[in-house]
Amino acid sequence: METHVTEHLVDTVCPLDCPDACSLAIGVNAGRVTSIDGSRRNPATDGYICAKVRRFGERVYGPERLLYPALRKGPKGLASFERVSWDAALAHIATRLEDARERWGGESILPYSYGGSNGLLTQDTSDAALFTRLGASRLARTLCSAPSGAPNMAMYGKMPSVTYFDYPDARLIIVWGANPSASGIHLIPFIREAKRHGATLVVVDPRTTALAKQADIHLAVRPGTDLPVALSIHRYLFEQGLADRAFLDAHASGADRLRERALPWTFERAAAEAGVSAEALQQMAALYAATSPAVIRCGWGSERNRNGGNATLAILALPAVAGKFGVRGGGYTMSNTASWGIAKKWTETGAPESRLVNMNQLGRALLEYDAPPVKALFVYNCNPAVTVPDQRRVLKGLERDDLFTVVFEQVMTDTARYADVLLPATTFLEGYDLARGYGPISLQLGLPAIEPVGEARSNADVFGALLRRMDLATNADPDGELEEMLHVLGQLPSEIGDALRDQGSAVPPFDGRPIQCHDVWPLTHDRRIHLFPEELESQAPAGLYGYQLDPATAAYPLTLISPANERTITSTLGELSRPADRLLMHPDDAAARGLANGDEVRVHNELGEVRVHASVGPWIRPGTVSLPKGLWRRHTQNGYTGTSLVPDTLTDLGGGACFNDARVQVDRAVGADL
Ligand code: SF4
Repeated sequence: METHVTEHLVDTVCPLDCPDACSLAIGVNAGRVTSIDGSRRNPATDGYICAKVRRFGERVYGPERLLYPALRKGPKGLASFERVSWDAALAHIATRLEDARERWGGESILPYSYGGSNGLLTQDTSDAALFTRLGASRLARTLCSAPSGAPNMAMYGKMPSVTYFDYPDARLIIVWGANPSASGIHLIPFIREAKRHGATLVVVDPRTTALAKQADIHLAVRPGTDLPVALSIHRYLFEQGLADRAFLDAHASGADRLRERALPWTFERAAAEAGVSAEALQQMAALYAATSPAVIRCGWGSERNRNGGNATLAILALPAVAGKFGVRGGGYTMSNTASWGIAKKWTETGAPESRLVNMNQLGRALLEYDAPPVKALFVYNCNPAVTVPDQRRVLKGLERDDLFTVVFEQVMTDTARYADVLLPATTFLEGYDLARGYGPISLQLGLPAIEPVGEARSNADVFGALLRRMDLATNADPDGELEEMLHVLGQLPSEIGDALRDQGSAVPPFDGRPIQCHDVWPLTHDRRIHLFPEELESQAPAGLYGYQLDPATAAYPLTLISPANERTITSTLGELSRPADRLLMHPDDAAARGLANGDEVRVHNELGEVRVHASVGPWIRPGTVSLPKGLWRRHTQNGYTGTSLVPDTLTDLGGGACFNDARVQVDRAVGADL
């Protein structure tokens, strides 16, 4: 008799590093994922998802999926491994970590992770317990959002911000340093709706993105100059008597000190730095002053340079100075992770603080730190071989014979190729998680749609097993992923935990549509907006609102940027097949170098060289070139990516990465690479 197995749908959520946290409907047939689509559980994402995650099944079942633990059997970097049992792999790791701790001290162990799986369960749970109890070095997770998080916290205490639903109420929308067509796609229909209702759209971006093409004003500023642009608007507001003095007196502090710092930035001076016209700046400032509701979508593009923290500070200060809060569709949008009032850390309060290693300086840490040296590196949820500045130095560090490296991954990434022990990790379709959106306000429960593929195991399982094997577990520790999930749910405010358990998602505060300075107020200690947060003044090399000049030289005059793209979430999904990647450059820059569309070029500076083909067109400002963020080594002609050209210098606030401070030259590729 013929039996028919039918597809069923599993409700879950996308926990990848994207603002939107789509709710998902996963089609499953006979234990295999057959379709990935959106569901309507999250009203902000409303049943549709990006093309990237629609392809996620290709990762789950693809040829590069890691299926079992393995030990290295050839030179580092060649991905030469032999299969071992989980027991053997964990025993080996425990022995090596114990050995490193005994001989060199706990700080010789460096855990290294980021937002590859951005859920609340897959980070800062049993992993934190293991590494804290080992006395390992701590990792400053600053690869992204640290330079904007620091000012957002100091100025507003990360007050919840305008969510996508309220964009149609805005009369003016400024998208500043963000490209929602590539990352955070669900904002786009709300912007379109606002435009249909007559809203004006301003886009600040060195590239002519799809959204910039639809903008009423496109300000193609030179990367790294968002700070003087924002300060020139502040100067205009104060000098023209357009600052909202009543609001500032009632709800803010530091306005006069901000005004002092903005004073030198005339439109002419800011325009000269930014490479735009003074008239365009004045037009934008006048429009902003005159229009309400006005919302600024502050992205992460403006933070990725030496002035990035102060740039975010100045941008986020604009709605306060111009009096844009208090109405629906007015204010700013930044990360909304703090909207739930839940802490991200779940374990180990009160443990002694060990050495803090900035993740942006991994190469330096692996090659230069000696008190103690890094002897054991445990990489999970990230792919530093291609995502961290100064790639050549990172790779040299990973090649060290005396470095013991564990990589706990889903697929054979560029970092996994350097592992001494390779552990197969479950994907979000194979386990539990809690995903908190940081664009729209949402918190959803992720459920396994299928059993783990091969011998893949979850973070909770693996770190829990290591805790027990190394005699570091306590009776209070959860045992396995499900217990860990219940443990995390139990630590949430009861109404949130109950809703997640019962309905799979929690009801967001203020129905997910808080009006700033009406429903929600700054979460600073005095509930005021700190326009001049003194505690940050000494951190910034040029002081608060202080500007540092462009690092371009005669030898390396072009600015290289690496914005988010339509194919990967950071570097996640880089293993999937794709058309060739190219360097985007303006026709003027190409002509000056005798280059044409499709030519193979070398993009180089004192740190390294990348070989790719050129894509010549007017979609980027002259003097700036662009490679996609998240490239894998296979995506370029010589195996190095844009991060090999990025210095490991840090942003003015927050210790972030200066990806857009790479200054390069571009020539026709001839002969062997460097
Ligand atoms: S990456 Fe973003 S847009 Fe794509 S499915 Fe995940 S949350 Fe949705």
